[in-house]
Amino acid sequence: MEKIDVKVVSEGVAIGKIRYYNDVKLNINRFEIEDVSTEIARFNNARIRAKEELKEIYKEAVNSVGKEMAEIFEVCQLILLDEEYVNKIKDKITTENVNSEYAIYLVSKEVSERLKNSDDIYLSDRATDINDVSNRMIRILNERENYVDDHRGEIVIFDEVTPSEILRVSKSEGIITKVSSGMSHASIMSRNMGLVHVSGISSLEKFAGKTAIVDAYKGVLYIEPDEAILKYYSELGESEQEMIKDILSTSSGKTIKVMANVNSYEEAKIAKENYSDGIGLFRTEFIYMNSDKLPTEDEQYNIYRDVLELFDGKPVIIRTLDTGADKRINYLDYSGENNPALGLRGIRYSMNNKDILLTQIKAVYRASLYGDVRLMFPMITSVEEIGFIKNIISEVKKELDSENIEYNAVKLGIMIETPAAAMLSDVLAKEVDFFSIGTNDLTQYSLAVDRDNALVAEFYNPYHEGILRLIKLTIKNAHNENCEVSICGELAADINMTERLCEMGMDSLSVAPVMVQKIKKNIRKNE
Ligand code: PEP
Ligand code: MG
Repeated sequence: MEKIDVKVVSEGVAIGKIRYYNDVKLNINRFEIEDVSTEIARFNNARIRAKEELKEIYKEAVNSVGKEMAEIFEVCQLILLDEEYVNKIKDKITTENVNSEYAIYLVSKEVSERLKNSDDIYLSDRATDINDVSNRMIRILNERENYVDDHRGEIVIFDEVTPSEILRVSKSEGIITKVSSGMSHASIMSRNMGLVHVSGISSLEKFAGKTAIVDAYKGVLYIEPDEAILKYYSELGESEQEMIKDILSTSSGKTIKVMANVNSYEEAKIAKENYSDGIGLFRTEFIYMNSDKLPTEDEQYNIYRDVLELFDGKPVIIRTLDTGADKRINYLDYSGENNPALGLRGIRYSMNNKDILLTQIKAVYRASLYGDVRLMFPMITSVEEIGFIKNIISEVKKELDSENIEYNAVKLGIMIETPAAAMLSDVLAKEVDFFSIGTNDLTQYSLAVDRDNALVAEFYNPYHEGILRLIKLTIKNAHNENCEVSICGELAADINMTERLCEMGMDSLSVAPVMVQKIKKNIRKNE
């Protein structure tokens, strides 16, 4: 058995056989070309295909690690459009009469070395992105197949890892890299994905094929561990999994649920596989978007019932249709709005289209027999709106009674996603059973920054002290009235915020399904 100290990049324990990834063995031999224009066309082709691949990877990454982290793949696409980089490669092909692979290799090496030597950590991380993009183009030129995905039971070792490779090995037990700044996009990504990651070992190749244990809490790597160590870590792994399955309680005895935000039954299944304590936000607008007409009461009832059965008694919070602004449904009418983000959206749309809301609430009440379903309403700013909702609920109950259809009590909640709602939370808390703080819109409306406008992205700051104070105030006011509070905006999934949010006293967090385990581990670590 060999025991080696390593640097922890992303915490956890991994046990498996070591596999040397060694990227694709790129063919970058130099050869003279016959026709410059044919070669430039070959290069342009590879560039277009690389861009298409990155577009797909971006979409995949948005789903698995969220929009912010996925942006790295947009940066990579921009590199492919960078005139200076592209022209340098074309110049090499033209002036030196060399093949595209070799020209890409030379230019990328030159640019990435220049960046690597920079004192600016941001620029030196860009060197990896350049290599990622250039390897992708070379692989395409080599007509190689895409990478293998299934690394279950394996710990994958890399000389240097790129963000797209992290996605490719996300099903492995863990990864080891020779070096890592800990701040590179690849490192942040492995942390966000909950992928065990250590670094700081030279000559990794010799370990290929051996059994290893990575203890990425203590920073130790065991090669060919003896029986006792293997037994210890196998049991530790099981107890860690067991703990993740449970609802967490802090040292003060308070329990914190980590639930999931989902758009569909399929996503709810992923949430379940990740030991989610329930569904904290079912964005039902996606049911409407995935249809070419308004979904019927029965269609909705079937979906809600299936999710409730799947979650078997755990809370499932169904948010009523939150359309308008950026969330448009192509068969609904949104005409006559100059400023849709401040227009007929969320509850306001429902108040104008009462029948749509009534159908949805009826479907939810019918499904209430199958579990702990809760109803939540978006974009609430006043007590009057809650009054409107309560009237509709009474109407629904009357209809169900007259049709002899049974139902259970359904808890009522609202999204707190405008500054006015946060400021009025002491009053609103008297009216409902729970709040869910939507930090995505709360940030947009508090800072007056369009959440979808890239031009003002730098002003979109959910960590703004003003936002944090609104969250704190909301939690305090809610608890005074025995009203539960959850946070379901993207802020809830930020591991750097977990401790602070726990301290503020929130009762649950609701995050992307793949983030549930990571956040649970993080809460436990901060206890
Ligand atoms: C929010 O606004 O934070 C939220 C969770 O809702 P959505 O992102 O669907 O607007
Ligand atoms: Mg919102």
